Amino acid sequence: MDLHDSAEQAQFRAGLREWLRQQPAGQAQMGSWNKALHEAGYAGLTWPQKYGGRGLSPVYQGIFAEECALADAPDQLNVIGLNMVGPTLIRYGTDTQQKKHLNAILAGEHIFCQGFSEPEAGTDLASIRTRARPTADGWVIEGEKLWSSYASFADYCLLLARTDPEVAKHRGITCFLLDMRSPGVTVRPLRQINGESDFGQIILENAFVPHECVVGPVDNGWQVALATLAHERGTFGITLTARLSVQFGRLLATVREMGKQDDPLVRDEVARLHVELSALRWTGYRALTSLEETGEPGPESSVLKLQWSQTHQRLTKLALRLLGPGALLDGAGSYWDGYWQAQVLRSRGNSIEGGTSEILKGVIAERIAGLPRSR
Ligand SMILES: Cc1cc2nc3c(=O)[nH]c(=O)nc-3n(C[C@H](O)[C@H](O)[C@H](O)COP(=O)(O)OP(=O)(O)OC[C@H]3O[C@@H](n4cnc5c(N)ncnc54)[C@H](O)[C@@H]3O)c2cc1C
Repeated sequence: MDLHDSAEQAQFRAGLREWLRQQPAGQAQMGSWNKALHEAGYAGLTWPQKYGGRGLSPVYQGIFAEECALADAPDQLNVIGLNMVGPTLIRYGTDTQQKKHLNAILAGEHIFCQGFSEPEAGTDLASIRTRARPTADGWVIEGEKLWSSYASFADYCLLLARTDPEVAKHRGITCFLLDMRSPGVTVRPLRQINGESDFGQIILENAFVPHECVVGPVDNGWQVALATLAHERGTFGITLTARLSVQFGRLLATVREMGKQDDPLVRDEVARLHVELSALRWTGYRALTSLEETGEPGPESSVLKLQWSQTHQRLTKLALRLLGPGALLDGAGSYWDGYWQAQVLRSRGNSIEGGTSEILKGVIAERIAGLPRSR
């Protein structure tokens, strides 16, 4: 593993850094950010050129994540489309589906959400109960999806539904491209602990999906879902670590602001976080190497996700403790305009989203420590 940028990578990094520096500070609208990135050639870096991407290796996606975090760039509204749905359609989509969606995903014109989880099917995703029944022209879908990020903004949903309830649960599932504006589709935003509504519940009452919106083989949606989930883990470790380094810098600023830089207990915690952050960075580079070599995210990505969520939660809690009464959202003596409270509250979901901590520990035990399978 060579930790230095090659000449081409250094050039790419410098160009991107300069471009980010030139972007207007108010470019905070997530949707317009997608468009700006696309126009500048920074959307779909790893997608094949044939599908409108740049055909670059995952290292470039890592550089992109690092530089965007350093520049405090906005999140991309179409993150699910770009990172998960696009690559899934490239592998399993029909020509018509690819023509309809791929360019529009890159341009931020088709915003996607992911309709996998249900009230009784999160970790045990294969237990989904949303039903799709065949009709002459397509499928009629009935059921409920939960925790779908960006559901309120989405134009389309990559949806899993049960098409054959008589077979074993991993079989008889089909993947669909659902138009979120179809009759029978209702989105109820879910209010989170931090007051925002980044995700929602999708109620499906006889929602119609035509045959041409089936992704991959009918009754073989499990295979499609596994490919989608593998893409979710792709280079996300680098993205998360890069954002965490920026937050660590803000923590140091908070420590100084509160005059706690000489407090031995605070120094001890800061040093521990620094060590963990460094370990995360190197693990991220190992995961990237494995992705470069095999095309698949290795088990390092589970270590990264688990450790990142714990470090993030500890870091944000320390910041809040340092602020003391200054953590109040308003009033005299309030610091950071509620930034750290928002981070603490949002970080609670980190140990659930993208694979819960318990599940990740199981993966690490079996795939890294070589312990016997639990079932
Ligand atoms: C911020 C956020 C965004 C999300 N975005 C999306 C999205 O866009 N689309 C989508 O489809 N879903 C999304 N989800 C849902 C997410 O995928 C699920 O919450 C997750 O899979 C866990 O499922 P669950 O909530 O049903 O919990 P459960 O699966 O019911 O788990 C409950 C508890 O039991 C533990 N547990 C379960 N099974 C085992 C086991 N076999 N061994 C040990 N422990 C176990 C879990 O670790 C957990 O602690 C999101 C969730 C969050 C928090």
